Amino acid sequence: MEALKQKILDEGRVLPGNVLKVDSFLNQQIDVKLMEAIGKEFALRFADDSIDKVLSIESSGIAPALMVAKELGVPMVFARKRKSLTISENVYSVDLFSYTTQKHTQVIVDQRFLTAGERILIIDDFLANGQAAEGLLKIISRAQAIPVGLGVLIEKSFQSGRQLLEKANVRTESLVRISSLVDGHVIFSDDGK
Ligand code: 5GP
Repeated sequence: MEALKQKILDEGRVLPGNVLKVDSFLNQQIDVKLMEAIGKEFALRFADDSIDKVLSIESSGIAPALMVAKELGVPMVFARKRKSLTISENVYSVDLFSYTTQKHTQVIVDQRFLTAGERILIIDDFLANGQAAEGLLKIISRAQAIPVGLGVLIEKSFQSGRQLLEKANVRTESLVRISSLVDGHVIFSDDGK
């Protein structure tokens, strides 16, 4: 997606540890027009998939997921991150390793918001090693819902997330693929869409 690529080139900053900082349009300040366009693009790609619900994870997945859900005319649910490890009832919960904080967190979704048989589209901001997506897939599986696919805005294709999702047989759509962040330079994959 050209507009997203250009935004990354104009405003993205490469941090140590292969992290791309995009807080001026996605992770803190949000470019609403760009999010709208992103919502339309994913809605188009998954138009024939009878999506019942969009599932994301707080906090950075929420903005794009909301726009996708709006375009598809379905609800959006986001998994909450929780520090306390106390078990509550009536939630689906998984332990998740966060790439950016390098910490484990518990992620929960109330059982009322995912129903057996629902067709779920996962939306997140980044795909790195696939831990967030894998956690959401576990939650979907516990709910006996159906994971139709994953849409990410930015895929870091030099990390292992896509392989993990291919193994799990989950269709993965990314708007931009980055093949390297070495020396502070963003290099896009030639086959990025
Ligand atoms: P994964 O779980 O695939 O290893 O990492 C994806 C999650 O970590 C996303 O939800 C995203 O919030 C965060 N993340 C991974 N890499 C980056 C990055 O380069 N920049 C930012 N801003 N977040 C990232």
